[in-house]
Amino acid sequence: MLETPHVAIGAAIATKIPNPFISIPLAFASHFVLEHIPHWNPHIVSETKKYGRPTKKSVMIIAVDVTLALVTGSLIAWQAMPDTKHAITIMAASFASVLPDLIESPYFFLKMRTKFLKDWLNFQKSLQVDTTPFWGLLTQIATIAAAILWLKN
Ligand SMILES: [Zn+2]
Repeated sequence: MLETPHVAIGAAIATKIPNPFISIPLAFASHFVLEHIPHWNPHIVSETKKYGRPTKKSVMIIAVDVTLALVTGSLIAWQAMPDTKHAITIMAASFASVLPDLIESPYFFLKMRTKFLKDWLNFQKSLQVDTTPFWGLLTQIATIAAAILWLKN
């Protein structure tokens, strides 16, 4: 799944559950749950196998997604202000929600090929449910919408 829906859910969890010892692990766990929702991602694993690195188009999509994820997490955290502690918890939960993917990034972008990274990649790939770009983006927009609805209630 893209990073923006992950962050939307992670930040929503921490908004609803201010206790960082509960919300941060839950946000981390939510990553693996969301991977089961059929989705579409740039195919950076097969691209890296084929060309040694992700294509320019995929890197562009990832850059936009990561920027949107940062904005989303910050905006949701901002809603908790002036409660700084709660806002920091929301930022930390946002980070935790994408940590499983961040762990992978040296594999794709620094050409780091350790056994741990390969095992981690295979583990994450085993959870992914892929579908076509149309449906796969729609489910992710629906995930973000669900997070916003939850935040508003
Ligand atoms: Zn992931």
